Amino acid sequence: MKTSYNNISRKDFIKSSALAMTGLTLLPGAMTASPFFDDQNIWAKGKLSLKNVRLETGFTYEDGEVISTKTDLFYIEVENGKITKITTNQPNAKAAIDAKGLLMLPAFKDMHIHLDKTFYGDKWQAVRKRTGGIKGMIELEQKMLPDMLKNSTFKAEKMIELLQSKGTSYARSHVNIEPTSKLQSLKNLQKALDNKKKGFGAELVAFPQHGVFYTDSAPYLKEAAKMDIDFIGGVDPFNVDGNIEKVVDFTVQLALDNKKGIDIHLHETGDSGLKTVEYLIKKVNENPVLKGKTYLSHCFILAKLEAAKQEEIAEKLAEAQIGIVSTIPFGRLVMPIPTLYKHHVTVLTGNDSIVDHWNTFGTGSVLEKANLMAQVYGYSTEFALSRSLKLATGNVLPLDDKGTQQWPKAGDQANFVLLNANCSAEAVSRISNVESLVHQGNVVF
Ligand SMILES: [Zn+2]
Repeated sequence: MKTSYNNISRKDFIKSSALAMTGLTLLPGAMTASPFFDDQNIWAKGKLSLKNVRLETGFTYEDGEVISTKTDLFYIEVENGKITKITTNQPNAKAAIDAKGLLMLPAFKDMHIHLDKTFYGDKWQAVRKRTGGIKGMIELEQKMLPDMLKNSTFKAEKMIELLQSKGTSYARSHVNIEPTSKLQSLKNLQKALDNKKKGFGAELVAFPQHGVFYTDSAPYLKEAAKMDIDFIGGVDPFNVDGNIEKVVDFTVQLALDNKKGIDIHLHETGDSGLKTVEYLIKKVNENPVLKGKTYLSHCFILAKLEAAKQEEIAEKLAEAQIGIVSTIPFGRLVMPIPTLYKHHVTVLTGNDSIVDHWNTFGTGSVLEKANLMAQVYGYSTEFALSRSLKLATGNVLPLDDKGTQQWPKAGDQANFVLLNANCSAEAVSRISNVESLVHQGNVVF
């Protein structure tokens, strides 16, 4: 069935959906200005139905090559935050949302961001010339943070709204834990996350931005590890703390003692970078409970290695089930993401900075990161573009590599976006507009 959804504006789409609404769960505040959403009773039922939803159903091949993606329209029901029913389309059903042929994809995940530390929502400020490397930046932060913390809950909420507008409803956020902020940055962020919890989920990394020992952060990390966080973080153990083993041992032990994962920022590109990767692999292999729960963020050293060494390290990372959270740098530094994929290393991405004293180029879109990856590595065919979507969704894809439908299934969390695109490949290539976001069955917009 051919649809003419391309001319639907977001406003028309929401308006027409609203008119057909029954039992819709809508976030208070999201659409309160709309005359269609002023009946409070419709929010409480926890049920949602959608018709004319486009889902991917398979690939079309020519001479063994995927040349297009097949789709069809479906009727979907959601209850208590989960997808409960997916059936053939019921165009005449009285559904809460008429998707009008829009494509449903898994909601996006930003897996590396600093929600606690941003200028977003505040006045514009460009990055200043960096002096004194990472230690110069630590000194700068020590001066800036007390002021930044004053309204960090408000700014985190604004940043969450930006991410949501780009289709993201889940993030892994690093949160500063150091003697300047102590636990205040964490507490302020937790408040923002609590205020936004119906439309946004997060996992947190206790991040010793100022070094574990370079500044006396260890006691605060120990305290944070007992709070509601998921990962123990870190940053450049050699460049900041001058001792790879001491820092990694501390981090691993703290993670083990508190049953947390690990996610360490590693920007070091020299010998110390490689040594850190190898030492972390060794420690995770010694403590297999950390397998699948340990990540290196950035890990720029991988871009500097010879091809054969990249293969060797990728194989070892895969074996230890250590993931790489990469921000898709371009220019002089090209990460070996194809090699990581080849060896089945988990690859995630995030915006990292939206606008702060480190970087001001974050758009908030991880779909744009998938697009950038596709451009950098030449993933331009229908098949390669469709696979690239996994960078935006935390590795969930509607079709497997053989074209068999694997998402959504009844029982899946109701976390999805509706986009103005025919298929994943088009969404990645065109960075298609996100028209609607649903998180745990709650309509964010
Ligand atoms: Zn970061």
